[in-house]
Amino acid sequence: MPEELGYSQQYYTQRTAHLVEVITDEGVTGWGECFGPGNVALANKGIVEKVIQPMVLGMNPMDRDVIWHKVYNLLRDHGQKGMSMQSLSGVDIALWDIVGKVMGQPISNLIGGRFRENVPSYGYGMMLRREAPDDLAARFVDEAAEIRAMGFAATKMKLGHGPKVDVQLAQAVRKGVGEDFPFMADANHAYTTSDAFYVGRALDELEAYWFEEPIAPEDLDGYAELRKGLKTNIAGGEAEFNRWGWRSLLESRGLDIAQPEVCALGGISEYLRVLALCHAHFTPVINHVWGSAIAVATNLQLLAAMPPMPGGLHPWEPMLEFDTTENKFRDNLLEQPLNIQKQVKASGGRVSIPTGPGLGVAPDRDFIAHYKWDA
Ligand code: CA
Repeated sequence: MPEELGYSQQYYTQRTAHLVEVITDEGVTGWGECFGPGNVALANKGIVEKVIQPMVLGMNPMDRDVIWHKVYNLLRDHGQKGMSMQSLSGVDIALWDIVGKVMGQPISNLIGGRFRENVPSYGYGMMLRREAPDDLAARFVDEAAEIRAMGFAATKMKLGHGPKVDVQLAQAVRKGVGEDFPFMADANHAYTTSDAFYVGRALDELEAYWFEEPIAPEDLDGYAELRKGLKTNIAGGEAEFNRWGWRSLLESRGLDIAQPEVCALGGISEYLRVLALCHAHFTPVINHVWGSAIAVATNLQLLAAMPPMPGGLHPWEPMLEFDTTENKFRDNLLEQPLNIQKQVKASGGRVSIPTGPGLGVAPDRDFIAHYKWDA
């Protein structure tokens, strides 16, 4: 990366992406992606290749749900959440890509059809830096204004320098975007419930749109207390997995907005079940999006096919999450790039959904060969 960036848990200087290619004997190839950076991706690569591959080799890729349950049932004793599910996610997405290519249809059509041909996108930035609070706040004022000027529908900042500084940073972002523009704040589960209330009250005053992962994802009661006590929407769920994890999360009523991560929770097959659970609880969904152009394309297909909830003349709309910091694996991976920043600028913040079969995108093999990490 051109510069070190941070979120509440750590600083980082390198990007990785973990792509999965599933090859068939009929020559159709599918692509998927597993959530998980750096050494986590290396471990997940081991699970995909050494654990899942022998379980599914020789099966019919059209039987994606049969494959999903075979793998999950055999891995249940070894990890119902976390890296085993991240690994299964990438395989499942690649199978859906194969099915789409065989049927000659985009995944959105296989799911049930496209409710929209494009989606609004929010641009996140305002990552943490090792700077004095006043300097970082000044930077956030400018960066927030820049992201608004890029055309995004909303923006999101990181929190994580401690409650007092974080309030100062949130005030800076509000100043940068102006009074009439939505901004969100993401704590990446850095706070205790008490500190989350302190920051959340400031976000209430600033009329932030949502407060993301204020506390540890295991603390379901804490989420419910925050949701009852704060005006700002409580968002979260990127660190939750599969239908059973999401059932508990939704039943505890701690989320105003659910953020499922398709490349982690179990792939498209499981995402569809989690989406149904979210809608059964009348919890709106804005997918968590992280990673390469494969992850972005996967999410675009899902966002196209997301039913309005509850519906109306002016229905609540999902948004595409977009990281405004440099990411070669997103911007340069594809043979035909999505050019999201250009689309956003040209269309008032909206991004069109690819119409080709499967994911509707194809990675450039030379690019992959260049960045392949053989560890
Ligand atoms: Ca987040």
